[in-house]
Amino acid sequence: MNRRSLIKKAGLGVIGLSLPGCGISKSIRQSESRKKIRSLNSFGTILSPVNILRDRIIRTTVGLRPHRLSGFVLKSERHDSKTIVHNYGHGGSGMSLSWGTGFLATELALEHPSRNVAVIGCGVAGLTTARQLQRHGFRVTIYAQDVPPNTTSNKSLASWTPTSGLVDTDQRTESWDFQFRRAADIAYRQLQLLVGPKYGVSWIDQWRFLDEYPEDATSQPKNTRPPLLPSHLRAEQVVVGPEGHFFPCNYMVRRKTLRIEPSIYLEALVNDFLTFRGSLVIKSFDSIEDLMSLDQELIINCTGLGSHDLFNDTELSPLKGQLVALIPQAEVNYATIGSLPGTNSEGFVHMLPRQDGIILGGTSEKGVWSMEPNQEATNRILSAHFRLFQGIRSGGFYR
Ligand SMILES: Cc1cc2nc3c(=O)[nH]c(=O)nc-3n(C[C@H](O)[C@H](O)[C@H](O)COP(=O)(O)OP(=O)(O)OC[C@H]3O[C@@H](n4cnc5c(N)ncnc54)[C@H](O)[C@@H]3O)c2cc1C
Repeated sequence: MNRRSLIKKAGLGVIGLSLPGCGISKSIRQSESRKKIRSLNSFGTILSPVNILRDRIIRTTVGLRPHRLSGFVLKSERHDSKTIVHNYGHGGSGMSLSWGTGFLATELALEHPSRNVAVIGCGVAGLTTARQLQRHGFRVTIYAQDVPPNTTSNKSLASWTPTSGLVDTDQRTESWDFQFRRAADIAYRQLQLLVGPKYGVSWIDQWRFLDEYPEDATSQPKNTRPPLLPSHLRAEQVVVGPEGHFFPCNYMVRRKTLRIEPSIYLEALVNDFLTFRGSLVIKSFDSIEDLMSLDQELIINCTGLGSHDLFNDTELSPLKGQLVALIPQAEVNYATIGSLPGTNSEGFVHMLPRQDGIILGGTSEKGVWSMEPNQEATNRILSAHFRLFQGIRSGGFYR
């Protein structure tokens, strides 16, 4: 029996047992206690397995990504006596792109003579836009229905995924692509400057699991061809072949990526905003007319999915995403992403270790507005990750 079929066998053997209540937990604990099980890849990196046990779940969260087929909206328009600059609809890329789109929104705001501005929304788009307006001398008031930790931005994974759930290839236009590339470039640089404990931004190795050798070194998602993201906005990658790792796939592709701890990051942005004399008002707006009652002549709309109702943008729809957080494991210092062999895109999962938990995910339910966690989704996420890490748990047996 070759190594690959051994791995498959080991994986299947355990997956046959059910996860709920964790019938598997006993057998896994026993095997773990027998030996310190680790996987050593050909680069000498030690990857410790994530313990996928139901009783290690500390919370499950649901967030609705603000998705538009034609991508985010970044433009200025007049409503009565007011100018409204829109900056919303970042799909699964808002944590990555917001400094960039916030900068472009600030450029549009600078065309207006007033330096007194209202920003609607206190998620990542509103906060990063507000900070850049402050840097340009604006007096800024944020009005928002919810503030961190109660925004969608807090429910994000959140790593450098600037094209995720962002735009449909067929809907892209040259001018939108131009905006996107400028925004991505600015955001990538800005996030790098925030690396450190204050903002909770850091670099981490991300391992993508693949069955086929990655043809394209930049490994662009299929739906963004021709490549939307310039290659200089992705760190170098290294491919490890089947003999170099114990994961249940052929190839593992390592790439450095940026990781954001949403609760630290958003809190730090709120503090910065207040330190620079920003005002924060908890307020909900029901209509454009409602916005017209504000004192400010210049308004920046960063309401994310809220723009569906507030501006009647019916192109905007939710991509429901569910995350399962497990008790942190200090020894897990890498991220994983991909679809396991033998599964289609529904088998897509990702893992990111953060200070507030090991975050597992991989769901994107189009048009679903429900904020209720879905048990089936949790089971799928746990099973796929169990299978993924089973390989490196049992790797010790094959060495
Ligand atoms: C599971 C999941 C994983 C994700 N992973 C990533 C990732 O890895 N990388 C990445 O880049 N992105 C990721 N995202 C996407 C990212 O979280 C979003 O793109 C981003 O949070 C959108 O930010 P926002 O500020 O536009 O919206 P929000 O965070 O929703 O903020 C909107 C603000 O507007 C306010 N508001 C809305 N309507 C009104 C109104 N009528 N009146 C007053 N205030 C209003 C809200 O109260 C809130 O303050 C993920 C999202 C999810 C759900």
